[in-house]
Amino acid sequence: MDAVAAIPVEKLSWSRISIYRDCPRRFRYRYVERVPEERVSAALPFGGAFHQAAERIAEARMAGWSIPSVEVLAGEYERAWRESVKRAPALQYAKGEDEATLRATAHRMLEAYLEFALTESGQVLAIEQEARFAVGGVPMVARLDLVELRGDELVVTDLKTAKSIWNANKIREAMPQLVAYAYAVVPFVEALGVKRIKPRFIVITKAKQPKVQVLEPVATADDAKRLKELVQETAKGVCAEVFPRHEGWQCAQCAFREECLGKDL
Ligand code: SF4
Repeated sequence: MDAVAAIPVEKLSWSRISIYRDCPRRFRYRYVERVPEERVSAALPFGGAFHQAAERIAEARMAGWSIPSVEVLAGEYERAWRESVKRAPALQYAKGEDEATLRATAHRMLEAYLEFALTESGQVLAIEQEARFAVGGVPMVARLDLVELRGDELVVTDLKTAKSIWNANKIREAMPQLVAYAYAVVPFVEALGVKRIKPRFIVITKAKQPKVQVLEPVATADDAKRLKELVQETAKGVCAEVFPRHEGWQCAQCAFREECLGKDL
């Protein structure tokens, strides 16, 4: 599909596709009109700061340094959180949450993730690597949290923070994203002489006793077909400037609620 080259935004990514599917109007505000956000869910800077702290572990593994303690990781979380909220508009916390409870949650999650990471033995090749590729003729970009060599496998990991462990429906829903990550590393397969690409999710829960769930589901031809359709449908909608409102539960947390629905809500 040629028209895709004329997408009035940069390349598509999985998060852009998800936003378009949740609400095309929100996509328009964020990526086409670049309307300033009115508020941001605290879950976003939380997730970003957690990722940055977790990255320190991968960095140490890659460089052969000693693995940082949980106190060092917690310090990194704090630094990244402060940096992120300094730039953010009003923060919107979930019920029962505030900065202190999130800090305590992050500490527990980092403890759990550190314990898991100490058991990992792959050779870290890349951290937060940007990869450009195409799906169904549509240019895409992905940021890969972690790429490792494990025997003759290339392991591509996406770290997720979640309220609870993922069930079968959630895993199925996310399968096209794993297929996209596999496409993203195809160019490295020959150069590295690997036999298989293993994309996976590692989900760390925000529970009182956080769990680390490692998901390595095998993608099917149907998952690849779904990815291609999702990408092409999104690209078509964006090119044709189809941005209807999808009003629903997501409006309560939307960063553009007043712009979209007015100030009286
Ligand atoms: S307020 Fe609701 S309908 Fe409007 S952009 Fe946000 S999610 Fe979409």
